[in-house]
Amino acid sequence: MNFSKRVRTRIVWIPVRKYQNIELAEYSLSNEGMWIRIAELVNHAGLKRYYKCKDVNDTGESCGAKLCVVIDSDTKEVTLYKSDKHNHTNEKTEIAKIKTPVKEFIRNLQAQNLNAKDIYKRLMERNDLKIPTYNQVVLYIDVLQREIKDVVIDLRMLENWLQTHSTTLKEEHKAFVISHQVLHNKNTFYAVISTKHLFKLAVDAEVYHLATMQKLAWSNLPAFVLGATDKKGKFHAICIILCGSLNYYTFKLIFFNMRTKVKELFCKEMRPVVIVSDSEAVQDAFADVFQVKTRTCWRYAQKQIVNQLKWSIRSPRQLMKDLNLLRSVTCPSIFDAASELFLEKYDHLTTFIAYFKEKWLVNDRKWFLGAARPSIQTNFALLKYIKQIKDTYDEKLCLSLQLPHFLDVLINVINEISTGYAADKDIFVKTPEVTKKDWIIGTEWVKGAKTNILLVDDNYTHYEVTNGVQIDDDDDDNKWVSFDVFIKRHFSESRVSIPLNKQLWYLSKCNCPTFYKTYKCKHIIGLSMMTWPQFNEDSI
Ligand SMILES: [Zn+2]
Ligand SMILES: [Zn+2]
Repeated sequence: MNFSKRVRTRIVWIPVRKYQNIELAEYSLSNEGMWIRIAELVNHAGLKRYYKCKDVNDTGESCGAKLCVVIDSDTKEVTLYKSDKHNHTNEKTEIAKIKTPVKEFIRNLQAQNLNAKDIYKRLMERNDLKIPTYNQVVLYIDVLQREIKDVVIDLRMLENWLQTHSTTLKEEHKAFVISHQVLHNKNTFYAVISTKHLFKLAVDAEVYHLATMQKLAWSNLPAFVLGATDKKGKFHAICIILCGSLNYYTFKLIFFNMRTKVKELFCKEMRPVVIVSDSEAVQDAFADVFQVKTRTCWRYAQKQIVNQLKWSIRSPRQLMKDLNLLRSVTCPSIFDAASELFLEKYDHLTTFIAYFKEKWLVNDRKWFLGAARPSIQTNFALLKYIKQIKDTYDEKLCLSLQLPHFLDVLINVINEISTGYAADKDIFVKTPEVTKKDWIIGTEWVKGAKTNILLVDDNYTHYEVTNGVQIDDDDDDNKWVSFDVFIKRHFSESRVSIPLNKQLWYLSKCNCPTFYKTYKCKHIIGLSMMTWPQFNEDSI
């Protein structure tokens, strides 16, 4: 026979403090807001009241912490005992220890955008307050910030603010609302904010980038940064977009109004070539307004693929190497053929291949180089920019209490960004910059290059060049044999177009991956040197 015996652990009660009477004890417990009375025991020794913590931890287990208030029948002494520790973070208990006047004091300073350290310093200066621990203050500020995020957006107030800030300002670095819309029936809105100085970049910008500032947790408003990379790959911010919901229609309106505003302010048309974004809604909206191609950030795609791969193979190195080759294809029809061979090569990874095909060949094919014209294909520079903004301004923006106040602070921040940008003398580089290293690589390439003129037209000489790899003629028949052969062959040749006019050398084109990523390559530099003997560092 097997009797399962319920094990009853003996509770060890630790005295915590004494109270003048039971009412005061209960009052202090109710202030902590986490205890419920579970039992009362009266006997000759006195009265005992038991309480348990009503919280549960993250895994759903209820907390084992208990309290007991004992009134001694002889001495009438009231003593509070506690049992086990809480099985969850004791945020509430800690915060409950902060006295009400201290809480008010913290709340006031927090509303003035002071950070935890500064608030604590100010607290230490007060002799009349009971100073909590630093940790308690940090926990309390954290709760206050969460409260801010839970505030529902007051659309009417927001609309008022947006309208009063919509006048185009003459000053270069004064931020204003470029365009906005508040939809009361759909409970959503958008606002584009910038300065004249920053917004003017839209006239020259070709390669656009958009990413969310989610990690900033600015109040409860989702913010996006829209900007462009120049020919050096440097990111330049154009505007901040606050947007209640990330959807196609809202972004279509945002881009449409942006185009109108650029024309109105600067009498010029926007000439975008591509947008890099992780959001399909943003990509589609941009493509429809400007009739251009779009890109999915390669870093983003890569991260997702690596995450998925973890479940399929232990060492994804070779596969990722091949994927990177596939990604480097600059011609859509070659990409189609190469991706078939890639699927074939890895068809033993059934689960992964099914995922890859569905997600990255059917749903989203905008991650390979040939998906759009040569352009920076990641949001790396933008994300770096966002991090920098976060490091500089997060404290200011994060702690703003109410919506109009938050927007006022945001306007000031954009003013500062604009002024700082101008002071940095950051130039939006419009032609590729040839560095010392590029000259060396170009010169080196010329030595072993095999070039073949295909055609000369009114503006360009078109070449076919080989990259020093020997290709056997019978390889031609085996071209379709495998991914490895196909890719090797594909990257051994490039098509290069060099303008007839030396002054226009920067309009050279090449279909190699390097050119697609950086607007320059050894082929165009090498061929330019071969075409124009005087083509050198000093002449361009
Ligand atoms: Zn508990
Ligand atoms: Zn090239």
